Amino acid sequence: MAGLAENDTVSTIGKHGERVRLFPRWERGKFLTARSIVHAILIVLLLGAPWIDIGGHPAVRFDIPARRAYILGQTFFATDGAYFLFFFGFIVFSVFFFTALFGRAWCGWSCPQTVFLESLIRPIERLIDGPVSKQKKLHAQPWNFAKLWRRGLKNAIFIAVAGAIATTFVAYFLGREGILEAQLHPSAHPFGTGVFLFLTAALSFDFVWFREQTCIVVCPYGRFQSVLLDENSLTVGYHEKRGEPRGKATDPDAGDCVNCRACVQVCPTGIDIRNGNQMECIQCMACIDACDGIMNKLGRDPGLIQLTSQRALEGKKTRLLRPRVVVYGLGLLAVCIAMVFTVSTRAPVELNLGRQPTAPFVTLPDGRIQNALRLRVSNKGGDARTFTLAAPSGVQFELITPLPTFEVPPGGIEHIPVFVAAPTDAEAEIRIEVRDDTDFLETVEIPFMRAPQ
Ligand code: SF4
Ligand code: SF4
Repeated sequence: MAGLAENDTVSTIGKHGERVRLFPRWERGKFLTARSIVHAILIVLLLGAPWIDIGGHPAVRFDIPARRAYILGQTFFATDGAYFLFFFGFIVFSVFFFTALFGRAWCGWSCPQTVFLESLIRPIERLIDGPVSKQKKLHAQPWNFAKLWRRGLKNAIFIAVAGAIATTFVAYFLGREGILEAQLHPSAHPFGTGVFLFLTAALSFDFVWFREQTCIVVCPYGRFQSVLLDENSLTVGYHEKRGEPRGKATDPDAGDCVNCRACVQVCPTGIDIRNGNQMECIQCMACIDACDGIMNKLGRDPGLIQLTSQRALEGKKTRLLRPRVVVYGLGLLAVCIAMVFTVSTRAPVELNLGRQPTAPFVTLPDGRIQNALRLRVSNKGGDARTFTLAAPSGVQFELITPLPTFEVPPGGIEHIPVFVAAPTDAEAEIRIEVRDDTDFLETVEIPFMRAPQ
């Protein structure tokens, strides 16, 4: 096949090992429109989640020192590890399932590296440096005032964007007040400040220089995708039988590929998809838009490059439903059901009655035995709750607590000291009723401790 050897190297490394700078063209088309919408939604969600409140807490925050996570109005505690296990399972099965079906769709459509680089950084670059022809000219020309101010302005904006993303990332953990406090008093918050500075530096390096090499050289996912894909997976492919031999549009013996290289010029990783499925392809589908545009101009059918399977390109039937897809799909369905079920049925309040770390029981002057207890109340809901403690009617226990009524804020935990006094021959279990201002009522129990008789 013509042209195979010329592009049979890593696209960003030159003959002498030097970095080859890519200038991917921006080509309108249905996939660019769809991808831009998906990226815009993801940018808003990724950058907005820790700053927007739902139920009195950030939409997403992982408060590690307090061992709590706030996710969409729900509060999860360290004891809720099962939910995180299900969530981890959801991520793993999603990657397996969608890669087996749609190849590296995650890379081109949802990975934050691609989302920020292609839909934030490159548009800023186009705005300052102009279209690709001007970008190339500016890159090649010697340093002068025009190049200096454009590079200075552009890189300053990239570093500011990196700083904003790093700020938001740290806010996922410290909360918005925490990150703002850390930025106002950096020396008082060495960890938050350190993570912020490291991330800002790493992202600046990525945006200013490293770029697509993160996908080509660093990211491990590109390497292990080959074990998840098979010949039925839908990937971006070139219809070789239709396109070859390449030639002029006026050549009656040539295939449909006119060798315009539009598909290569738009590729953000600089590859030629006509050389076959490659590890560097992030499945952004920009080459489909570019080639369809050329085919439309020539009055030919679109789809010379298309989302298709290896089998379809060989003229065979694509089997979407195959054992690995079924297994991954069932795994994904199972963790989704488990996740939805456990989250929707989780108790809004978690109670835990334990003993105080003092003497477990004492004898009172009137001869009764007193147990010193501690009630831990976790409010997992999005609203504050006011609780009242009481001994169930008919029991011999007297409940003595300095806080018979107390409030627990949304996502909060309170430890309430409770003392229970009872005759030495009282029943074996202490029971305490916990009510709130809605219809919540639960009875907690603990063995009544006394000296052996
Ligand atoms: S080959 Fe096509 S789909 Fe793959 S990265 Fe390049 S432009 Fe995107
Ligand atoms: S854009 Fe289409 S016609 Fe042009 S080189 Fe690529 S495959 Fe061939």
